[in-house]
Amino acid sequence: MNTAKLVYRYNDSLYINLTNQCPTKCVFCIKYLWKMQFHGYNLDISKFEPNADAYIDAIGKEIKIAGFNEIIFCGYGEPTMRLAEMLKISSAIRAGKIVGLQSDFKIRLNTNGLGNLINKRNIVPELKGSINSVSISLNTMDPRQWLHLMNPLSEYREEGFLSVLQFIKDCSKNLDKTTITALDNLGADLEKLNALAKELNIDIRIRSGLEIKKL
Ligand code: SF4
Repeated sequence: MNTAKLVYRYNDSLYINLTNQCPTKCVFCIKYLWKMQFHGYNLDISKFEPNADAYIDAIGKEIKIAGFNEIIFCGYGEPTMRLAEMLKISSAIRAGKIVGLQSDFKIRLNTNGLGNLINKRNIVPELKGSINSVSISLNTMDPRQWLHLMNPLSEYREEGFLSVLQFIKDCSKNLDKTTITALDNLGADLEKLNALAKELNIDIRIRSGLEIKKL
């Protein structure tokens, strides 16, 4: 098998594959189906998670090869499982320590929204100033359906859904851009998701289930 990638390119962005750990086992997750591969990249870092310096080095090497529009924390795992490393990488960028990257370079977090429960504190103040935008895979406004679709570990089942909602609200007040996402083929009430986005004045992205299959 090819060497595991710490960073990989997709759609003009550079993705940071920070961890394979995840508190959920979403019914739509492609990592199982694709055996930890993504467009020829091996994203399996389950046996060894490098430290922030290795990622900073990898980003520095990529920018020398070619530019990208955004850095996105999103691999086959939940990035906030490694919040400290994520913040170290962002801090290095904000401090202008990566040659070729402006200190205000766009940084996004793709997450299932469970970062507060994972880290046992409100992490939004730490994200503020560190990342610009967050994309949260919410998928439904129905707590029961959320349990079914996200399939969280037992310790996240009781408080998970409400914690994700609170995380979304806090992000909407503190970050430049907050987006909730959902798939159109999971039977969720999309009107309710649209209503939440409207209420909080945030973006919503409904992704096609077919599009996911074709990724
Ligand atoms: S949060 Fe992402 S990595 Fe984790 S199971 Fe869901 S889709 Fe897969």
